[in-house]
Amino acid sequence: MTFYDEDTVQAVRDAADIVEIVGEVVSLKKTGVNYKGLCPFHSEKTPSFTVNPARQYFHCFGCSEGGNALTFVMKSQNMTFVEALKYLAGRYNIVLPERVLSSREQEKSRKKEIIYEINRLAAKSFHEFLLNSPKAASARQYIEKRAIPAEIVKDFELGYAPESWDFVKRALRDFSEEDILAAGLVVRGQRGTYDRFRDRIVSPIFSHNGKHIGFSGRILREGQPKYLNTQDSLVFNKSNVLLGLYQNKAAIRAARKCLLVEGNFDLLALASQGIRNVAAPMGTAMTAQHVRGLKGYIEEAVLLFDGDQAGLKAAMRAVPLFLSARLDAKVVVLPPEHDPDTFVRKYGAEGLEKKVRTAATLPDFVFAHLENKYSLSLEGKGRIIEDLKPIISAISDDSLQRTLFVSHFSQKLGLLPEQLMGQFSKSSPRSRSKPSIPPWEEETEETEGNNKANSSQKFYLSKIERQLLKFLIVYPEYLKRLLDAGLDKAIKSPSAQIILTQIQKMNEENPGGPERLMDLVQGAERIFVSEQLISVPSCKENDIEEEALEKISWLNENKLRCQMRELTAQINEAQSLGDEELLMTLLSLKNEIPKKMQEK
Ligand code: ZN
Repeated sequence: MTFYDEDTVQAVRDAADIVEIVGEVVSLKKTGVNYKGLCPFHSEKTPSFTVNPARQYFHCFGCSEGGNALTFVMKSQNMTFVEALKYLAGRYNIVLPERVLSSREQEKSRKKEIIYEINRLAAKSFHEFLLNSPKAASARQYIEKRAIPAEIVKDFELGYAPESWDFVKRALRDFSEEDILAAGLVVRGQRGTYDRFRDRIVSPIFSHNGKHIGFSGRILREGQPKYLNTQDSLVFNKSNVLLGLYQNKAAIRAARKCLLVEGNFDLLALASQGIRNVAAPMGTAMTAQHVRGLKGYIEEAVLLFDGDQAGLKAAMRAVPLFLSARLDAKVVVLPPEHDPDTFVRKYGAEGLEKKVRTAATLPDFVFAHLENKYSLSLEGKGRIIEDLKPIISAISDDSLQRTLFVSHFSQKLGLLPEQLMGQFSKSSPRSRSKPSIPPWEEETEETEGNNKANSSQKFYLSKIERQLLKFLIVYPEYLKRLLDAGLDKAIKSPSAQIILTQIQKMNEENPGGPERLMDLVQGAERIFVSEQLISVPSCKENDIEEEALEKISWLNENKLRCQMRELTAQINEAQSLGDEELLMTLLSLKNEIPKKMQEK
């Protein structure tokens, strides 16, 4: 799936400085030739995330994530390959030659750009109208009442969509009606199109890289619906957008922690009080995409949902998402009469921070909620166990987290951990109603994690294979000389053969350097390659040749030993067949070998 030619990709890789790129997300400390820091891809207390500036390469010894600057941007910012390439090219002033797009792709990408532009201009009109128009006086009053200061209005580009049917259409008269419809700013009615947002405070919604992708509007006076958002469009997908993430990115990264609130005005209220490590899903529902999107930035999420029943329910629904993504999370339970907005306005930033410090861990929150709901009567306990099933099953089977959860809950329920575990391993009603899947088909549904485990079981390298590959991964330019010396005789295990084949392929098709190998191998082999790329070279630069010669001489000897073994086998066969002529030839060949060995 190469969208740009290899030269272009390489130019971007060469220009990008991995220490600089990673350093923006991870605080790095120099140790020897490498830099170390806390891994952004898994949660850890001691740094096992390593960056090697010489190789422009990172590897985590904790979770085995590894790659170059491009891979890092993709993973940490949740970007596609092309997005990351464009991002880095932009940063390092590299001109990307436009790839040849199919006409359909071209049309789609042109449409997207138009929608971004329409949204950007509409946001500007709404914003200016809010700041300047006499007709926006009540909107300005509302914002004042909400205690949102001018700099937040500016930072979040808040605007006002007036009570008008064609404000947007007039502001965007250079664009076609069809395009404005596609952006979702107007709606088609019986007598033509009219503005979707009317008499609402509107906040533009941004993509992670700052494009205007949609709007969220809150009604100014009484009326329904209270909140109105852009419908999903070519550029907008409600289920993966976190409000505020773009504006608050720096604060979220710096804190390594993100408070999650339910709505846009909670977000604005917290920002107004100087709390900027906040984001909000659209509507109340967190999705797995939200959690994945956050994972690169933070070590811990804190759910700060409304104190009412709906808020608690939303928090409960979010619990399995954090568990299955293995992202640490806590829950703050606000007093029932409060939401984050009213709470922070009453108690200030300090009051809220104090409250956040008392946040419950997920098991504590879950249990307290269920205990409250069902009580600890015998029947209540039964119901609690039922409700715990989907939560426990969201945690992967083998994890420590699961054991911790089960022992926590069993203690609370007055059961033995094994008893409780037994309850969870019984199939739940939902999984029983699923049609039974034959075992061979079930295997095709493996998760990525399972795949990793399976291939690492098969992954095996002999000591000598390990040494040879370690050297070749770092110094692939020696491949030909090692092959001439009989490398193929020493590389026997399937894992070693896979890696060797890919080194050959890498050498043949591109001089991109050893890091290119990471794009070619997968699974356990990839982890091995990654480890070699990050580890300190076993020899000094001027000793490389010497080390190569050592390996070559060992390979030569090994080759002769192999030939000797093969000849011995052939001689035995010739003897048993009674083929004297062949026997003589073979014996004379065998006599040559010790001489050759001495020459070495
Ligand atoms: Zn890691």
